[in-house]
Amino acid sequence: MSAIYRTYRPQLFADIIGQEPIKLTLQNEIIAGGIAHAYMFSGPRAVGKTTTARVFARAINCIKRKPGTAEPCNECDPCRSILDRRTLDVIEIDAASHTGVDNVRENIIGAAKVANAQLVNKVFIIDEVHMLSTSAFNALLKLLEEPPAHVVFIFATTELHKVPATIISRCERFDFKKIPAKEMFARLAFITKCEKKTIEKEVLQDIVRLSQGCQRDAESLLGQVLSLGDAITYKDASAILPRTDHALVLAMADALSVKDSHKGLTLVDQLIENGVDLDVFVGDMIEYLRNIMLYKNNVAGLVDADEVANLKFIELSSVLSMGEILTLISHWMSAQKDAKWFSLPQLPLEVAIVKGCMRE
Ligand SMILES: [Zn+2]
Repeated sequence: MSAIYRTYRPQLFADIIGQEPIKLTLQNEIIAGGIAHAYMFSGPRAVGKTTTARVFARAINCIKRKPGTAEPCNECDPCRSILDRRTLDVIEIDAASHTGVDNVRENIIGAAKVANAQLVNKVFIIDEVHMLSTSAFNALLKLLEEPPAHVVFIFATTELHKVPATIISRCERFDFKKIPAKEMFARLAFITKCEKKTIEKEVLQDIVRLSQGCQRDAESLLGQVLSLGDAITYKDASAILPRTDHALVLAMADALSVKDSHKGLTLVDQLIENGVDLDVFVGDMIEYLRNIMLYKNNVAGLVDADEVANLKFIELSSVLSMGEILTLISHWMSAQKDAKWFSLPQLPLEVAIVKGCMRE
């Protein structure tokens, strides 16, 4: 199994995708020499929080950084020592496994007060910071109130609401976003090219869809697919990718929009024949209907769709009334809930289709 995401982990701000405003602000701070004592990186998993923290840690310690730029050289001694993880001055802690106050005292507070071993800036990267105990947060807060010079804290969390407001208010806060489909696709295509392989476009589109904005997930799926050979077809890839058939989602939405229950039920049969995971399909269908609802409400901006998908959403959102869309969503949500209770797993789906086609 290839560790694509490790091989291609971005080493420069320029290579980090999907977080433009955050990159810009951090780089401006580095260039201006106005970095904060503490940062809070919040957002979904696998979208680049730790990667950004590591690039930042190198950039503020690099001794060969060109004036007016924020990129680390990744070659000087400080950069190398951080990349090779042989410096005592960049400390990564996973709070999920160090939740006691004693660990915070030893690993963070103790270490923050010791003079820097080698680097100009000591950097603590504390992942899943929301996992710390209350007493650990209290100890940390004291440190943030009077931060030692040349110490920078970068906290990362997927659950910002669990971090005390007193901590958040002492940090410069950045909200990381899921990676937009277009940028994720481009990055996967780039990696494929670097690996000197070819891959059918539909495979990459499937990976993007399956990964739902999480870059690490996308790259680990890509790694599995790339291990299949040098020229990978959709058929090859579908043997290992979780099966969803996007074409069937579109066909189902079409059938529902014209109340064609015969067509809808035939599609279920096709799903089973193709070995598609029905749970995944129902989930995809609900997401698709949700997108139609968002288009209907003129908030298409919330939908991450390519041009072709965009046109389809426009079409379906004009054909269906708001009431019809809501009815369909509720039927498919019931199907999702019911699916686990039936020995005939396709039945809840079939009911959702027939009910949907009988709507007024
Ligand atoms: Zn450097």
